[in-house]
Amino acid sequence: MTMRCLQCDKEVLEQDAKFFLQVFMCAPCADVTEKARNRVRGEIESALAMLDATFRTAVTHKSLTFSMHQLITMGRVSILEEFARMEAQICRSHHQTKAHSSVTTRPGAPSVDGSSSSSSVKAVD
Ligand SMILES: [Zn+2]
Repeated sequence: MTMRCLQCDKEVLEQDAKFFLQVFMCAPCADVTEKARNRVRGEIESALAMLDATFRTAVTHKSLTFSMHQLITMGRVSILEEFARMEAQICRSHHQTKAHSSVTTRPGAPSVDGSSSSSSVKAVD
């Protein structure tokens, strides 16, 4: 029995059918769908980790801008806008803190003196 891939409409033998997310597809479509889904899922998981870090920083910098009233009354877009405002405020205060602190170099940072003791002949690859 042949069936059609729901993504590309190509005929696919039943034994070659792939089911992903409860959807029937040909193998190439199932492969790209799974890889795309996993990639997006990974990006979202990274974003969630950054979100937690932002809230942690907000609390430790006494910069949490949300109120219980806002959480009850604000819609999705307003909540996200408030989060973006809070994040920007944290970034600004972080940059101000950095500007006031003395100049430091990261441990293990590469030297940037630009000097070179080698000859004037440069390798080109
Ligand atoms: Zn397909």
